[in-house]
Amino acid sequence: MINRQLLSTSFYFYWLFCIIMKQTIQHIKKTLDPFYPATEIEGFIAIVFQYYLGYNATQMILNSDKTIEFEVENRIESVIERLKTGEPIQYILGETTFYDLRFEVNPSVLIPRFETEELVDGILKKHGNNKLKFLDIGTGSGAIAIAIKKNNPLAEVYACDISIEALKTAQKNADLNQVEVHFFHHDVLSDKPLPISGFDLIVSNPPYVCEKEKAAMNRNVLEHEPHLALFVPNNDPLRFYRAITLMATQHLSKNGELWFEINEAYGPEVADISTTHGFDAIIIKDINGKDRIVRGIFLH
Ligand code: GLN
Repeated sequence: MINRQLLSTSFYFYWLFCIIMKQTIQHIKKTLDPFYPATEIEGFIAIVFQYYLGYNATQMILNSDKTIEFEVENRIESVIERLKTGEPIQYILGETTFYDLRFEVNPSVLIPRFETEELVDGILKKHGNNKLKFLDIGTGSGAIAIAIKKNNPLAEVYACDISIEALKTAQKNADLNQVEVHFFHHDVLSDKPLPISGFDLIVSNPPYVCEKEKAAMNRNVLEHEPHLALFVPNNDPLRFYRAITLMATQHLSKNGELWFEINEAYGPEVADISTTHGFDAIIIKDINGKDRIVRGIFLH
């Protein structure tokens, strides 16, 4: 015998808890409105629906009247709660996209930035088909090294970092993207010599944000991203550029190249360090017209 009472009650609860996608989107917008600008919330919505339901922008429109499973709804709710505290969406979901590739990220590595995609793009435009021995210093999540290797399988790619945790994440990312990168531990500010030599190209996106710039930074960066990968002292903002340039003079082949991502405030100063060490240097601007890359060709 079917218990009619029970049946109708469960239908009632199903109807009560059934949430359609449109409502969830409205709920996200309303809840996060006091915390983020509207465009950023739109971005979160796109990322969350892509992550949990695999929807792209068109699929989101096509499915906007569909119901969302209770389980998914619950997960989205916990993402919203964490976003309210300022935690970056990439750390909450544990992944991000860089140069069209998927990367695992966690608070031991910086979330790869758009500017760094421009750095990778500049290198690949020039060396996308060249067989070269390549080193990425301060690799973090492995973004630069892995994106280069994925797009130029002829490259022999090495990458180092001072953080063991970052190196573990970078190795996972190389596996995830099915590329071979030789990772090793190294502190560029130490006197320890680099264990490998004869590179055709050295690239680095070292820490370059001055302590004094903290006041103008977003809370989600300051409170969640690794300071080790971001900050340099006000009285010595170019310490990594000097150390890496000096080291490059000993480990680059003739006409080898040294590519740096830089703080927009120090283009001429970084170029000057390169020139002083025997490089022919140029400054390249990013998409926003800011000095972002210094490229030096080693003339010795
Ligand atoms: N571009 C990054 C930022 O503004 C900094 C990266 C770095 O220090 N290398 O947060």
